[in-house]
Amino acid sequence: DVGSQKERVVTEEEWLQKWEMGNIGFHKEQGHPLLRKYLDVLLNGRSGLRIFFPLCGKAVEMKWLADMGHNVIGVEVSEQAVKEFFSEHSLPYCEEPVPEILGAKMFQSTSGNISLYCCSIYDLSSSIVGKFDGVWDRGALVAVNPCDRQRYASLMISLVEKNATYLLVTVSYDPNKHKGPPFYVPESEIKSLFG
Ligand code: SAH
Repeated sequence: DVGSQKERVVTEEEWLQKWEMGNIGFHKEQGHPLLRKYLDVLLNGRSGLRIFFPLCGKAVEMKWLADMGHNVIGVEVSEQAVKEFFSEHSLPYCEEPVPEILGAKMFQSTSGNISLYCCSIYDLSSSIVGKFDGVWDRGALVAVNPCDRQRYASLMISLVEKNATYLLVTVSYDPNKHKGPPFYVPESEIKSLFG
């Protein structure tokens, strides 16, 4: 019964507060073992990919993939998270406005291979960020408010190339025992969202 989580909404303001308060238990200092495990599936023998990190936080896996020669593009509402990412990896960066999105900024590593958009993911479109060859979706679909899942999935589908690979991490638990996020997204729903 996922009904118990259906109405739950976490506002952007609440996410910003989590970052300010340091309530970021979701952040994995050592990176995610499942990305190591399934790296070959994500890359599928290809090099120089454009890889998207939706709701990226300060995920260290962005640095891993950039170091392997890929282009990493992320989106995150918290400017604090974005700045912490660059400073914790001692990466110099520049910031610039995004003309198409009011109030948005893009933070880019000086080397050019990591670009993090600071805005809501719902402000993005393929005309602004292009299309991606790969997606690492960890703490993203499961962090999206249940009422926004359909919109999120449609957007993600519009942002990927035809032959893209999409790694999705979900969490399995009894949704009556925890209000989320992360939310419980049953496999049947994933199938209907992504087809
Ligand atoms: N994927 C990251 C972070 C997961 S937590 C990781 O694996 O560590 C979810 C993140 O999404 C938070 O950092 C939050 O600030 C951000 N977020 C929430 N709603 C968002 C939105 N609409 N657009 C962009 N980022 C959002």
